Formats: sequence, structure tokens, C-alpha cells
Amino acid sequence: MPNPSLDISLDVTGRRVLVIGGSRPARRVIARYVAAGAVVYLAADTYEVPNPLVRPVTWPHSPSGWRDLVSAVDLVVAVDLPAEAQPLLVAACAERSVWLTREAAAPVSRPGHVTLVGGGPGDDELLTVAALRALAGADIVYYDRLGPHERLNEWAPGAEQVNVGKHPGHHAVPQAEIERMLVASALSGLTVVRLKGGDPFVFGRGGEEMAACRAAGVPVTVISGVTSAIAVPALAGIPVTHRDVSRLFTVLSGHVPLSEEELAHLVGLGGTIVVLMGVGTLPHLASGLARHGMRADMPVAIIERGFSAQQRTTVADIDTVVTVAGEVGARSPAVLVIGEVVRLAQCDDAAAVAVLANAATLSGQR
Ligand code: SAH
Repeated sequence: MPNPSLDISLDVTGRRVLVIGGSRPARRVIARYVAAGAVVYLAADTYEVPNPLVRPVTWPHSPSGWRDLVSAVDLVVAVDLPAEAQPLLVAACAERSVWLTREAAAPVSRPGHVTLVGGGPGDDELLTVAALRALAGADIVYYDRLGPHERLNEWAPGAEQVNVGKHPGHHAVPQAEIERMLVASALSGLTVVRLKGGDPFVFGRGGEEMAACRAAGVPVTVISGVTSAIAVPALAGIPVTHRDVSRLFTVLSGHVPLSEEELAHLVGLGGTIVVLMGVGTLPHLASGLARHGMRADMPVAIIERGFSAQQRTTVADIDTVVTVAGEVGARSPAVLVIGEVVRLAQCDDAAAVAVLANAATLSGQR
């Protein structure tokens, strides 16, 4: 008989745990045991959603089949047990002295839902409260290397975790396939989180994922994240705007080189220029900006691997930056900042002091 007064904790690290139940109702239980370090086997009479966390086993149809199955594991967790299988399982566990426990099935929400979550620029502390709440309620999380994911076991203990980014031995999942997976999971009734780096709508292809969900009739919401475009410069001490120094900032992707017309407008606009994915096209950008009239001594900062132990900031001018970037071996991921605000990063620097003094004078004149 189940005894509700028991509340035991068990170290299941490396232990073989057999979960019994349909793959969907059992998914949160499965994820919890996987997160706790168990090797999880699943006996299900139906597999509605493929579950990458478990090793499926064949559903037994005889008393001896049940005995063989339970003797191969350390613990049996019954989640969703058909009535006719119950006496067979109970008898098999009793005979083979294998622990049997029961856990409640995950509630199934129909229809499912997708939440695009901005995970911030890489530091756990910069995840929002809303992001943590969405993760805590997720059945499945699709993540990639740009979003913070080291602590997903803790943040989303009930969720399957699917890595759709590039990782050792695996290519990144193509964008169309990611969209197909998000939609398929939601249509099967799951609460889906798509965890992305920074903000989902800043060069994150979040718009495409939102459109794919809408086209399939899947409800979709967005939780904004702290974008690297602002947070990575901030970490290096660079404010993207500063009273009387820069009253606008333009964020651009360096993925594809800018046209002559765009370069001309950018120089004409002034203010701070922030470039993501810009290391590869830096030579084109620097020479283009100079050609369209940007001052040769306009400061440029390259901030690599922000929020990691390998974070590095390199400062140069628009006419020296390509050489300097080559000398230091600047590499992606990096945020580039072009503009007077870069001088503010070094406040003990005479140039920074001059910029601030000038700003103070200008604001005093108004
Ligand atoms: N949606 C993301 C940006 C995705 S594009 C956001 O809002 O931040 C990926 C680019 O972002 C990288 O090539 C790099 O330019 C920048 N980036 C993201 N995180 C970074 C970090 N921790 N340090 C430096 N650059 C970063």
C-alpha cells in the first residue's frame, strides 16, 4: 500500500531506473531522474513523443516478461500504469525484491504553447525572473550554445533538454528543422521553451520562430532578454549612450557587409555603432566608414567572449583597428563598439576625462 507519510531521498546516481508509463505523461518524472544522474529505461505501451533522455524497452506481456524486466533494474517508478498490468508489475517487483514507487503523471496541456525566451548574454545572473519561471514550467527546452544552459537541470528540472546548436560531434540543427520541432512539440500538447542567447529578437531568428508557430496555429509568447549589444559593452565600462557624447546608438549585424549607401548613412547619422557578428567583416566596415568620412581617430572597442573568464577588450582607432585586431587575434563571439563613448571605458585615461569635461561643458551651455 502506498504510504503518503513517507518522504525519502534516494541517491540514484548511476542507478538503473525503469519508468513505466506513456512517454508524455511520464516525461517530467523521466527528466527528474535523468537530472539526478540515473540511467532511465522507459516501458510505455505507446510512444507519443520520442524522448531522447531514455532507453525504451519492450512492453512485457507475461508474468515472466515482467519479472525479467524488473530484475534488470534497481528501482521501478510507475507513472501511468494500465490497470491490467498493475498486478503483474506488483507481483514481479515483490518476487524479485525490487523497489517499486509511484509518481503522478505530468498534466497534459492542450494545445501546447511555445515561449521564446531570451537568456541574456551568458551570465546566469542576467536571466530574467520571467525566463526562470518559463523554464520551471517547461516540458521541453530547445537550447543552443549561445544561451546560458549549464544549469538547465536546476532551472527546468521537469523538462527534456534538446541541444539544437553546434556541439562536439553534432552539426547545428538547421533553422527550418528547429521551427518544425518547436511546432511539433507544441501541437503534441507540450509546454515548449526555446531558450536563446541575448534577446530573441536581436539577430536571434526569434521572429522566424514566432512566424512559424503562428502559421501552424500554435500560441507563442516572447520573453525579452538582456542583449549582448548593450550588456557586453557595459561590462567593458562602455555606456552605449552618454549625455552629450552620444544620443543614439545603431546596432548592426556584420554577418553580411554593409552597402555603400548604408555606410554613408551610418557615418552621417553619428552616435554609437554597435556591431554583432562583426569580426569577419571588420576590415570592410572600418575602411568603408573611413571612406565615407569617419574621423581616423574614432575609437573602436572589440570585446570578446563577454561574461566569460576569457573576456578581453581591445581598443584601437578606426584606422588602426584592423591591424590591431589581427595582431591580438580577435575572434568571434565579440561585440564591436565604434564611437566616442569608447573613451569613457578608461576613466583614468586623459582622453576619457576630456570627453567627459567636454560633455559637461556642453550640457552647462544649455
Ligand atoms: N540575440 C543575441 C545576439 C545573437 S547574434 C543578443 O541579443 O545578444 C550572436 C552575436 O552576439 C555574436 O556573434 C556576438 O557578436 C554577440 N554576442 C552574444 N553574446 C556575446 C558575448 N557573451 N560576448 C561577446 N559577444 C557576444
